[in-house]
Amino acid sequence: MANEHRHDMGAGGRCICTKCDKTIAHRDSVPCREERCPECDAKMLREGSHHHELFLQKHSKEKGDS
Ligand SMILES: [Zn+2]
Repeated sequence: MANEHRHDMGAGGRCICTKCDKTIAHRDSVPCREERCPECDAKMLREGSHHHELFLQKHSKEKGDS
């Protein structure tokens, strides 16, 4: 067994667009919030992060009473 397996999953994760749901690979040195979507130039969030969950919750609710 001389094969070397490199796993990059741990440090990775993905950034997801808040507009079109496009995902890109998260870069370690760049926060997702500072990334821009390559498709629509919207801001991005770390996929699965607390902020992303809040974002999904807001958008899953219809605007009702305020
Ligand atoms: Zn986008």
